[in-house]
Amino acid sequence: MKQNKGQKETEEKKQVLVQAPLGMNDILPAEQKYWNFAIGQMEDLAKYFGYKKIVTPIIEYQDLFTRSIGRVTDIVEKEIFEIKQKRETKLALRPEFTAGIVRSYIENGMKNRAKPVRFYSFGPIFRYSKPQKGRFREFWQFNVEALGSCSAGQDVEVILLCWDIFEKLGLKNLTLQINSIGCPNCRPEYLSLLKEYYRPYRRRLCADCKRRFSKNPLRLLDCKEARCKEVADKAPQIIDYLCPDCHSHFKSVLEFLDELDISYVLNLRLVRGLDYYTKTVFEIWPEKEGGNLSLGGGGRYDLLVEELGGDPTCACGFAIGLERIISELKNQRIDVKEERKPKVMLVQLGEIAKRKSLPLFEKLRKQGIRVLAIFGKDSVRGQLSVANKNKVTLALILGEKEALEGSIIIRDMQSGSQETVSQNRIVEEIKKRLKED
Ligand code: AMP
Repeated sequence: MKQNKGQKETEEKKQVLVQAPLGMNDILPAEQKYWNFAIGQMEDLAKYFGYKKIVTPIIEYQDLFTRSIGRVTDIVEKEIFEIKQKRETKLALRPEFTAGIVRSYIENGMKNRAKPVRFYSFGPIFRYSKPQKGRFREFWQFNVEALGSCSAGQDVEVILLCWDIFEKLGLKNLTLQINSIGCPNCRPEYLSLLKEYYRPYRRRLCADCKRRFSKNPLRLLDCKEARCKEVADKAPQIIDYLCPDCHSHFKSVLEFLDELDISYVLNLRLVRGLDYYTKTVFEIWPEKEGGNLSLGGGGRYDLLVEELGGDPTCACGFAIGLERIISELKNQRIDVKEERKPKVMLVQLGEIAKRKSLPLFEKLRKQGIRVLAIFGKDSVRGQLSVANKNKVTLALILGEKEALEGSIIIRDMQSGSQETVSQNRIVEEIKKRLKED
């Protein structure tokens, strides 16, 4: 039967009601063990390295992102989630962490703290790009920033923390890609040489690169289009044009990495998609996938604090994408432990028993015994089947008789044997049996 227009629209509306927005995902209970594991390991390491947690708003003034990330970047040109407002200054969902954290550093006068001021954060990030495998519109990042140190040792501390996170998660076959993109002293000369090199090829380039040629030539180097890659392969290399300061900084970073036995790929086409970077930039790539889906990336951004109105402050940091990490944990079949489950289930039968079982549940919780109970389920069989499904060791069964007597039945779920004990002794009886288990 053919639907009329009105019916079709109603159907579409109904469908939208039960669909997450395009490119956004639920993180269901079954997935949580991966998330808790990944975030837990990352937080532990960041804390060990002396980083402190900071939480900034998911929304900031849009100009903050335009000013820091750069007007001619994919993120600002195409991927900002703008929030419609009536009159006030435009707001946007954050497309990365750094800008908001630097804003908070300046706003809260943190320049007076002992340097470096180190932060870590995690939470959702929003980029309005075409959703595809490993690329979402809402995704989570674990983010690290260190502000107030210009030395190469700081770059290496940040890279080491990033590398250690992957190692601690048990992920293998990854490469550290690294490059230096210079500073305002040396980059302009390189960029004009780059443009001279590209000029004869301009008509061959993709539409994005045609624009990049005049607005953001450095980004010509990391275009993923085959025809542009060919041109980029033979382009002059920035490493040959670094000023003495950038050169010696980068040399030190690489020497530190050698000292740490961290192998790296010197990737002279790595530029990162944001304008605020200076000197060192790096990414972590899975060996197989090439550079299309990096797992994490970051670098130094020595001019951003000043650009946003703070004192000149050297800084560096990185972000790791959690969805990609979790997919990699699954691909590499990394065994992630289930959350600790209760070993005891409290089963009640009848109104009086239910009333008495609630305080008992509280008493056991306060004694540190994790107990599963479903007070909304009345049948014993139903409750015991939940006990079986959850593979508990003991079921505590409280019927009307036991509730009136102040006793309780302890059932060993494996052997099926049962014993009635006084409720006064319940804690020690449970502990004794769980110890034997
Ligand atoms: P970026 O600063 O863009 O390199 O992002 C840092 C990390 O965030 C990347 O290495 C990815 O792991 C992750 N990431 C970036 N964009 C997306 C996206 N659209 N969907 C999922 N993860 C992303």
